[in-house]
Amino acid sequence: MSEIIRILPDHIANQIAAGEVIQRPASVIKELVENAIDAGASKIDVFIKDAGKTLIHVVDNGIGMSEIDARVCFDRHATSKLKSAEDLFALQTKGFRGEALASIAAIAHVDMVTRQDSSDVATKIVIEGSKVVEQTVVSAPIGTSFSIKNLFFNVPARRNFLKSEAVEFAHIEDEFLRIVLAHPSVHFTLTHNDVNKYTLPASNLRKRIVDVFGRNYNDRLVPIEVVTGIITVVGFIGKPEFARKSRGEQYLFVNNRFFKDTYFNHAIVSAYDNLMASKAFPSYFLYFEIDPATIDVNVHPTKTEIKFEHDKEIYAILKSGTKQGLGKFNIVPTLDFEQETSFDLPWDMMNKPAVEPSIRVNPNYNPFQSAPPKSAIKSSGASPALQNLGFGAPKVDPASWENFYDVEEDEEQEQEVQQSKLLEVEEVEEVSKRSKFLVHGQILYSTVKSGLMAIHTVAAQERIIYDEIMSSFILQPIESQQILFPIDYALSRADIELWGSYQKTLNQLGFFWEVSDTGISMYGFPNYFQETELLSAVSLIDQQVKDDQIDKGEMAHNFILSMSSVAARGKRDWDEEACSNLLERLFQCPEHQYAPSGAKILASVNAQDLF
Ligand code: ADP
Ligand code: MG
Repeated sequence: MSEIIRILPDHIANQIAAGEVIQRPASVIKELVENAIDAGASKIDVFIKDAGKTLIHVVDNGIGMSEIDARVCFDRHATSKLKSAEDLFALQTKGFRGEALASIAAIAHVDMVTRQDSSDVATKIVIEGSKVVEQTVVSAPIGTSFSIKNLFFNVPARRNFLKSEAVEFAHIEDEFLRIVLAHPSVHFTLTHNDVNKYTLPASNLRKRIVDVFGRNYNDRLVPIEVVTGIITVVGFIGKPEFARKSRGEQYLFVNNRFFKDTYFNHAIVSAYDNLMASKAFPSYFLYFEIDPATIDVNVHPTKTEIKFEHDKEIYAILKSGTKQGLGKFNIVPTLDFEQETSFDLPWDMMNKPAVEPSIRVNPNYNPFQSAPPKSAIKSSGASPALQNLGFGAPKVDPASWENFYDVEEDEEQEQEVQQSKLLEVEEVEEVSKRSKFLVHGQILYSTVKSGLMAIHTVAAQERIIYDEIMSSFILQPIESQQILFPIDYALSRADIELWGSYQKTLNQLGFFWEVSDTGISMYGFPNYFQETELLSAVSLIDQQVKDDQIDKGEMAHNFILSMSSVAARGKRDWDEEACSNLLERLFQCPEHQYAPSGAKILASVNAQDLF
């Protein structure tokens, strides 16, 4: 018997690896520019000829390489960025595989000149098809420059597969923009066939976006800043009216690395529901900052797909963060919204061990007796979950919520008129002592310094309950209450299975059940429900569980949305204390203009506009 297995020589292995890493000229540019960033460059110039087919030249002013490293860097698995397997979980660099230069050198002619600060001279290496053909000492500035010529010279199938110059240049531009948007503090230029395409001086993020996409972008962007224990998301989203017909500027970055994610894209885009045409694509530039140990960038050779340990929570955070941003932008222009709102989950929450959902049994609870007051709108002594967790804790004392909606007086204009009116308003206030009254059992009117404000109680409750459930869902299971007479709900075997697949999510939301012969017996409910709502809550869950149109990841958010909608519709006894409570809690919500379903919560009128 003769052996037939052979170890491939390096240059063949590299050529095969190159097929994965280097698909087209744009991939070379991506790898070289990322290396330059990893080398700490503050200025990176890219020159290309014929969309990179003839020449790709990248010059950086980074740390450069020693004579020995200059030679070694072209070996496969040669990297300065990873020393041990543990480093994989704390990656801060773009590269780490040590594959790019080996791959490029295997399929092109490469000239590299590199010099470190500590050296007076530079090393020049010329390499063709993995073979070093020249190594010399030359003079050059500090940093590294790569010239890649005759790409795919020895892989004709690849070379012939390349598209037209316009298409290849479009790919290059895509890669280039992904990098420049992730690194606004680095100066970049891109020159194609001696024509300068981009000159992007070091700046901040907003300026970088405007430098890339044009000055009119400045008015199209809404800032986003969400700080939670799991993730920090900052950046900009586009105003809905500027959404485009084709997928346009949609950028996600995690720890300054561009990535694609249809799941998160869905979270962001669905926050625009009802705000733009259904076929439109909003633009967004969102930057995640997250503990590298909770993501896996290793799933794809070109690393644009990333796995997130907390993807469900991030989905919910993204969706409500985007909605919040849009809500802030949708404001009534005459009102003053200086109050900065942001999610602010304390970091140490993440380090706490996951809490098993627990059930608190209330032996006195009987759904057939008149309901004890157990709504989410508790007395003011009870600390709302959001407040406890610092989730959107307002920076303004909630007790003085009246001030949030005071119209800022323009002192320069009509000063005299204003003063007489102000006086009137204050008098009205003095008389009314900020009185509140309920009309049609649903609309709560209250005086504010500048006039009158109307609050839709159902929409307000929906917002309060939604925020409360959402924050609990993210950080801890929602408190569940066991009822004396469980609600039996008929389900087929298959549907029981289906419910089972959402058990973890539903338990976390406070729902507990036992399986019976004919269906399920629901005995644990989150405590914000009134007894009369229990059955509708079960059937709502059932509808959603069976709706295969709903994305699985969307499910938790959908549950929360419909739970808050059901719970908000429950009848309440609106006495003076309940009304005060409602207002107080509403103004602790970061978004208090709109309910999560999109319904408007409040309207106000300035007293001076009335007469
Ligand atoms: P990786 O980036 O995954 O480490 P590469 O093959 O892209 O692998 O690069 C190999 C090594 O060469 C890098 O780890 C780095 O040490 C060095 N290197 C590559 N490009 C540059 C550069 N522009 N400036 C300084 N060092 C570089
Ligand atoms: Mg690299």
